[in-house]
Amino acid sequence: MPKIRKVLVANRGEIAIRVMRTCHELGIGTVAVYSEADRDALHVRQADQAFCVGPAPSRESYLVQDNIIAAAKKAGADAIHPGYGFLSENPNFVRACEKAGLIFIGPPASSMESMGEKTRARAHMVKAGVPVVPGATEPFPTAEAAKAFAASVGYPVMLKASGGGGGKGMRKVESAADFDSAWRAAKSEAMNSFGNDAVYLEKYLDKPHHVEVQVFADTHGHCIHLNERECSAQRRHQKVVEETPSPILTPQLRAQMGEVAVKAAQSVGYVGAGTIEFLVDASRKFYFLEMNTRLQVEHPVTEWVTGIDLVAWQIHVANGGVLPFLEPISPRGHAIEVRIYAEDPRTNFMPSPGKIQYLRVPGGPNVRDDSGVYAGYTVPNFYDPLISKLSVWAPTRPEAIARMRRALDEYVVKGITTNIRYLRAIMENEEFLGGDYDTAFLPRQHPKLLGEDDPALTEVSLLAAAVYTHQRAQKQARSLVSTTSSGKSGPSAWRSGGRFHRLGGRS
Ligand code: ADP
Repeated sequence: MPKIRKVLVANRGEIAIRVMRTCHELGIGTVAVYSEADRDALHVRQADQAFCVGPAPSRESYLVQDNIIAAAKKAGADAIHPGYGFLSENPNFVRACEKAGLIFIGPPASSMESMGEKTRARAHMVKAGVPVVPGATEPFPTAEAAKAFAASVGYPVMLKASGGGGGKGMRKVESAADFDSAWRAAKSEAMNSFGNDAVYLEKYLDKPHHVEVQVFADTHGHCIHLNERECSAQRRHQKVVEETPSPILTPQLRAQMGEVAVKAAQSVGYVGAGTIEFLVDASRKFYFLEMNTRLQVEHPVTEWVTGIDLVAWQIHVANGGVLPFLEPISPRGHAIEVRIYAEDPRTNFMPSPGKIQYLRVPGGPNVRDDSGVYAGYTVPNFYDPLISKLSVWAPTRPEAIARMRRALDEYVVKGITTNIRYLRAIMENEEFLGGDYDTAFLPRQHPKLLGEDDPALTEVSLLAAAVYTHQRAQKQARSLVSTTSSGKSGPSAWRSGGRFHRLGGRS
């Protein structure tokens, strides 16, 4: 008899919806949590029940463990799925769930602790015989000690926050002359972002590929890998496009990396879905970068080529089930995912929250849109501006690229600015089409992707932008007049449907 009958999803946006979809298919009840800024969010509408857990800032809502656990208890949930981000990699939260008698759908706290801090994870991996990016396995007590180490490793080096993530607290240092200022900057960014200013350093690998391996383990001692994802299309060390199989991997390299990834996961007693990230250099040597102890944003591409529902497997394993397959499986066909953001590539990717006036989502064969928004929804400015992940499958890479172009052409979002055209340009870019693109690909091709490499076009686009801005201002002024004269907004059907509950008396 399965233990899990109702799941609280401690997250928001597309990932909360993704998890709930599988729960509903499995006949499992769903509970959403939301902040005051997210009352009208799609994940709240998708759930069977919803609880407000605090004000807009995530520190006061999505990160408040007590409120989330109280909501789960009140709803009668027996498990919590953390999604990614927020509390998903917090071992204290895992323990708090266990203490409250709730199943945490994820790895044990001890595995998270081993892999949580970058330096601790590196030390573990060295012990387990997993190759790591050359560098330190402990933070440096002083700038002098770090500088001496940098000289021994050889410049350039990468300073990194031990407690880092999300591409923050990372600084490339070209030479000893730049070291001190980079050290201070990395330390202060680490403190501001993670409340921990411990910094260590790695050798800076020149134009590596980011290739990661999906692993899965159960509580019966089985652990397998589900192939790789190529995630080298990055901006500020954050992934923008992901695909599988990686165009640069041979079957031998895939098998080797898979084997090492499984060894890495097993060495920390891993359970559930996890990702071992590697950097692969020009000679195709690979090095452990870090482990993400949760479901990854880009998991849909793995689902496309394996036919597996990774969330269903997570629930199955959390229920004490044995992994459905115990052998690695060959990927079938090719899948690509792009991250659609409410941001403006032309203004240095400034977030562009606001109301979505019109939305047309692509469909057709082998197209999947994991979205967190709807027409009429206002994208709040408190959270990550990811509005959707569009993914496609086709038998071959060129066909998958053609399908992605077609899907992006169909995608229409009006009212806010998105990066859809930028993503479309990536799908036309020669370097991307060639398949051997490294982590410096997007910065290198940036002007071309914006169409700014052609001065004539730039002039035309500047003129077009000026006309557009003027027209938009006029339209907004007109619509303001019309809403103030006739605007009336009643409570939504969802809110009046009685599915909303409150916690802690906030309104
Ligand atoms: P975070 O945890 O902040 O996401 P990661 O350690 O996973 O940081 O690295 C994110 C990205 O930064 C990598 O995919 C790669 O592009 C770049 N990077 C990280 N370490 C190095 C390194 N030693 N050399 C070159 N690039 C690196």
